[in-house]
Amino acid sequence: MNAAMMPLERCQALVLNADYQPLSYFPLSLWNWQTVVKAVFLDRVNIVSEYDRVISSPSFEMRLPSVISLKKYIKPSRNPAFTRFNLFLRDQFTCQYCGAEQDDGVELTFDHVTPRAYGGRTTWQNVIAACAPCNLAKGGRTPREAHMSLLSHPEQPSVQQLQQNGRRFPPNYLHESWRDYLYWDSELEP
Ligand SMILES: [Zn+2]
Repeated sequence: MNAAMMPLERCQALVLNADYQPLSYFPLSLWNWQTVVKAVFLDRVNIVSEYDRVISSPSFEMRLPSVISLKKYIKPSRNPAFTRFNLFLRDQFTCQYCGAEQDDGVELTFDHVTPRAYGGRTTWQNVIAACAPCNLAKGGRTPREAHMSLLSHPEQPSVQQLQQNGRRFPPNYLHESWRDYLYWDSELEP
């Protein structure tokens, strides 16, 4: 494909913090071109790298940025939000009973380690990723009652831990200009 004719919707920019670290690895921090152009005009970002794709109006013309960095450093929040996605990311999309991975087509569910009927709460410390068969096998019992053991002790992760885990999951599409700013765990393997 002629790079200058790249469809606009594909011209997303990788967003780096002011320290040139990606704002997020997983999902990768990407902005659509409209958001990027707006941020450029509001002087909130530096353009680090550009596509060949040009947008123009009668009064201006610009190459669309492919990598931008924020002018103002955003301090990562200390405690990540307790969301379905973050919980699965903490557990690396792996059943915490049998080790089956979502990548292998396994359906992941939530499991309350101490069942709700026993007063178990919906917290980082009591909820884990479990495959559907393990969840079903455990039923409304504690792991001890069900004779099942946990692969890890559930705790509240730090934002850094989640970022670290996110590096295990590179997206399918990476523009070449993004690669200088991203470090995937898979690249560290010999
Ligand atoms: Zn399982």
